[in-house]
Amino acid sequence: MITLKSAAEINKMRQAGRIVAEVLGKMQEWVAPGVTTAELNELAESVICDKYSAIPSFKGFPPDGAHPFPASICASVNEELVHGIPGPRVLQEGDIISIDVGAILNGYHGDAAVTLSVGQISQEGQRLLKVTKGALYEGIAAARVGNRSGDISAAIQSYVESRGYNVVREYTGHGIGRSMHEEPQVPNHGQPGRGVRLRKGMTIALEPMVLVGDSRVKVLDDYWTVVSCDGKLTGHFEHTFVITDGEAEILTRM
Ligand code: MG
Repeated sequence: MITLKSAAEINKMRQAGRIVAEVLGKMQEWVAPGVTTAELNELAESVICDKYSAIPSFKGFPPDGAHPFPASICASVNEELVHGIPGPRVLQEGDIISIDVGAILNGYHGDAAVTLSVGQISQEGQRLLKVTKGALYEGIAAARVGNRSGDISAAIQSYVESRGYNVVREYTGHGIGRSMHEEPQVPNHGQPGRGVRLRKGMTIALEPMVLVGDSRVKVLDDYWTVVSCDGKLTGHFEHTFVITDGEAEILTRM
């Protein structure tokens, strides 16, 4: 079921979104050669838990699962697309790292991700980051009353594919609110005019996941980390936004 949020609920989501944005802002300062992904996770927890007394959305998710996610951020390096588990890995000059952050405040979630460069990166990496981020904003621009979810999906897909890259099929954007994942699903591929009609007050976490190579992915035996099968670079950007009478309002803007 799709829930339309009231003004009071949107305000709560703004507050959760601001925490997520602050964490991602700090990540931009901290990501550098020599830093471990576990250190980035600790930094995120210091903001989410200690500074704001909020709850990391990802830690222990799903609560009834056999392999709940063990950390507060997803840290996915190079060919790792999403859901990388922070740990002892040391970032190297030339890496790219997707950091995905979720926080719950007063019962409402915020969810966003950026892919950052570690020091100087390849031209291919730079282009991938630009295209993936561009795809996110292209999708958000299509998130307007009167459009359908397929218009968002198609905007992302055509933006990415016309630039020679591919979108992942297995993982999608999603509604968000009291739960991290609500209806509707918003895939990164689709057809214009299909899917659910977009309405004011719908809150969505849109997250283009883009592959330099072909779109096949697999999950590593840590049960979480999703990587490209061909080992080529991948990018991931995400924002939580609310649909309004005009342009969507981004709730996780840095
Ligand atoms: Mg998400």
